[in-house]
Amino acid sequence: MSGWYRQTPVGDNLIRVSEPHVHALLAANLWWLRGTDRDIVIDSGLGVVALRDEIPAMFERDPMVVLTHSHLDHAGGAHEFRERAAHATEAPTLAAGPPASLYGAELYQKMGIPDDEPAPELLIDELPHNDYDPRGYRVEPAPLTRLLDDQDRIDLGGRTLTVLHLPGHSPGSIALLEEHTGVLFSGDVIYDDDELIDFLPDSSIPSYRQSMKLLAGLAVSVVHPGHDHSFDQARLHQLATNYLERTN
Ligand SMILES: [Zn+2]
Repeated sequence: MSGWYRQTPVGDNLIRVSEPHVHALLAANLWWLRGTDRDIVIDSGLGVVALRDEIPAMFERDPMVVLTHSHLDHAGGAHEFRERAAHATEAPTLAAGPPASLYGAELYQKMGIPDDEPAPELLIDELPHNDYDPRGYRVEPAPLTRLLDDQDRIDLGGRTLTVLHLPGHSPGSIALLEEHTGVLFSGDVIYDDDELIDFLPDSSIPSYRQSMKLLAGLAVSVVHPGHDHSFDQARLHQLATNYLERTN
C-alpha cells in the first residue's frame, strides 16, 4: 500500500518517519537526517513494508542507517541499506536477524517479555496489501559495516553526531547528540513515558541508572526519541530523575 509510512518534516533537514498502522508497542520513529555530504537514517522501522518502495527518495544519496539498538521495531528495514552502523554489542543479533513476530504472544515468548498482562493479538491494524501474510513476517539479517562506540563521531558534512553509549534498555543502546545544536536522538534509552522497558533478558537496571545519571545533567535543545513525540530538556531531566528515584 502507499501510505504505510508517514513523513513529517521537523525543522532543519530532518524528517520524522513513523508507521501509523503499527501497534503502540512497536510503533517506532525513523529519523532521516540530511547533511551536505550525505544523509543518515536513524533506525529503520519494523520492516513490514520496504522503505525503498515507499520512500525511494530516502535512498537517492545512499544513506547510512544508524541503529540505536537491535530490536525489531528499529532494525526491520536495516537490510535495505548498503551501510549499516550500530554499537558492537548489538552486532551479533543484527547479523542473525533479531527475534521478531507480528503476533503479541509469539513476540513476548521470543523476546522473553513477561506476559503478566495479556499480549495484543496482532501488532498491525491494517495489512499493507490484501495478500500480505503476517505469519511470514521476519526481520532480515543486517550485518554491520561500521561498529560504533561511545564518543565516535558521524560526519554528514555541515553536521556531526556524537555517539553516546547508554546501555540499560539493551546492552548496546546508543543515543546520538548533535553537539552544536543540542539535538539528541535517544532511541529507546528515553522517551516520554515513565514506563521504560528495563525488564527484557538483556536489560540491566544498574546500567540504565548510569545512563540516566548522564541524561539527567545533559544539555540539550530537543530530544527526538525512538517512540512518541519529541520533548525538551526539562522533560528529559525529569524523566531521567524519575527513573533514578523509582529504581533507587
Ligand atoms: Zn527497544
